[in-house]
Amino acid sequence: MSHPLVIANWKMNIPSGGISSWIQSEMVSTNDEVDFNKKSSYFKFMGIAPPISHLSELENLLNFGFLGSQDISRFNDGAKTGDISADMVIDKGCTFSILGHSERREFYNETNKDVSEKLRICLEKNILPVICIGESLEDYNAGKTLEVLDMQIKEIFTSLSTKKTVVIAYEPVWAIGSGKTPTPDDVNNIHQHIKDIVQSIAEIEAISFIYGGSVNCENAKSFFQQTNIDGALIGGASLNGKEFLDIYNDFLETF
Ligand code: PEP
Repeated sequence: MSHPLVIANWKMNIPSGGISSWIQSEMVSTNDEVDFNKKSSYFKFMGIAPPISHLSELENLLNFGFLGSQDISRFNDGAKTGDISADMVIDKGCTFSILGHSERREFYNETNKDVSEKLRICLEKNILPVICIGESLEDYNAGKTLEVLDMQIKEIFTSLSTKKTVVIAYEPVWAIGSGKTPTPDDVNNIHQHIKDIVQSIAEIEAISFIYGGSVNCENAKSFFQQTNIDGALIGGASLNGKEFLDIYNDFLETF
């Protein structure tokens, strides 16, 4: 089964006012079983990827949604200073991991090969992988969007065969944190293209396609209305709990 998902990526930030003020009253259950079951089902497409240091606090305050990490190590254990392994994030309650975010590529020189290795670790360990791909502004201006995506896809997915679910986040680098976005129509077409290419080189039983890049309350619905957009990866706007919940509600309305 594919996995629609609206993910908050807090990056290396804590919401202003702290985690407890980020959490909206609707996100917390009373001790009533009916309320708990209703909310569990309501929030089943919400993912939150806080800094690892704050996972436990978030897990203690919030009973709903999925917790995720913003990255995992491509190694399983040992002398890898600064890394956090898949088993360690699982231990902290994570069920998904963002992989290959453009900031990891830009600041830590992460390559498609690294992302490919991390993807395989996630699948082996039963972590839902959320793989980010996307073109730079330079490539976008040069009309090379599809060419760049094809190369990323080939280097990450070639020969992969899995019955597990994979999430692909299309995130044009020029749209991240810039307030600029491609049109929803463009994203829809690009997602179709990504789907076609992935299916031609890999056997993946279930893939979801989410969009990331300056999604906010004003534009979220226009993306969610597209048939090939199964959710969103949200940076800046996810640091405000109310705004993130509004976007999530928009997602459910169009689902
Ligand atoms: C991101 O960093 O994944 C992202 C989509 O950021 P923003 O929503 O701030 O553009």
